[in-house]
Amino acid sequence: MAALAFVETDEGNVKKSSLEAVSYAHAVAGDVTAIVFGTVENPDTIGAAGASKVLHVQDEKLTTPNIMAYSSAIAEAMNQEGSDLLVLAKSSLGDPVSARVAIKVDAALASNVSELPDTSGGYTVKKSIYTGKAFAVTSLEGSKKIISIKKNAIAIKEDGGSADVVAFSPATNDADFTVTTTKTEKAEGDILLPEADLVVSGGRGLKGPENWGMIEDLAKTLGAATGCSKPVSDMDWRPHHEHVGQTGIKVSPSLYIAVGISGAIQHLAGVNSSKYILVINKDSEAPFFKAADYGVVGDAFDVVPKLTEAIKKAQG
Ligand SMILES: Cc1cc2nc3c(=O)[nH]c(=O)nc-3n(C[C@H](O)[C@H](O)[C@H](O)COP(=O)(O)OP(=O)(O)OC[C@H]3O[C@@H](n4cnc5c(N)ncnc54)[C@H](O)[C@@H]3O)c2cc1C
Repeated sequence: MAALAFVETDEGNVKKSSLEAVSYAHAVAGDVTAIVFGTVENPDTIGAAGASKVLHVQDEKLTTPNIMAYSSAIAEAMNQEGSDLLVLAKSSLGDPVSARVAIKVDAALASNVSELPDTSGGYTVKKSIYTGKAFAVTSLEGSKKIISIKKNAIAIKEDGGSADVVAFSPATNDADFTVTTTKTEKAEGDILLPEADLVVSGGRGLKGPENWGMIEDLAKTLGAATGCSKPVSDMDWRPHHEHVGQTGIKVSPSLYIAVGISGAIQHLAGVNSSKYILVINKDSEAPFFKAADYGVVGDAFDVVPKLTEAIKKAQG
């Protein structure tokens, strides 16, 4: 089996979730070619994660993400490389691209996959469904397959080797450019919430926006992104792009720290995919404790500064 991995970048840096996709493809197929668009600051990470070849698309028209044109280019790369498997990270770009490539190359598609496929009696994959509350085992038929993987579910290989980076110039057609992005404005903050490996989130228990300093201090100490519950952003205590949950951002960090958040089902829908959850709440009956791996029953105004100090001390 020959695999192609679609690699996404953020300001030229290869996304961690894409390296997970490369390592997944390597574990399944051994032979992995990656495809990446635009400037890449750290192409060596793609080889280390398991790719032996990188198709680098430098066409200026394709440096800004374009769902239609990327889908055409990836389908062309699959045909050129004889790839019968495409692996990519589940993301706001990966979702529409994978669906379109599936149509173009006539492939079976499974999204939000959390484990390597089981090929013992066919080809089945385990996918996360219902915002992480359940799993579905799905059978993929046909000779071509596309697997989009859940973030943070697959370990990144770091000793794969080095990849040959070769230029790839896909055919472009005008029909793919009827919609183009003219300007991209990034949300404030160094760490993007959907990609963050650590998240510190605050709820209405923090009483007001003037108390967010301790959340930001803890987040800065850990190198984490900041998030919040919906009422907090509705009241304009925090910007809307920090709102986590069913109607906001879905996060999948290694650690989600929830401070003064009750744990309503709509909030949990956005954090169920976190590897570990630490809840700090003064009410021992708060529903969030049922979803937590670690819990501190205490006043956030007392616990959070002490936690930050302890982490700073441990960091030296
Ligand atoms: C259709 C729909 C969609 C929704 N989507 C979302 C969504 O996407 N995301 C979301 O978050 N919500 C969503 N909600 C709202 C959700 O139902 C809850 O109302 C909301 O999550 C509650 O926010 P909260 O936990 O910050 O506030 P509260 O429910 O008021 O909880 C505050 C918590 O802080 C604790 N607390 C108070 N003081 C302290 C202190 N000093 N120290 C420590 N703990 C303290 C309290 O014990 C309490 O548990 C949605 C609701 C609906 C109807």
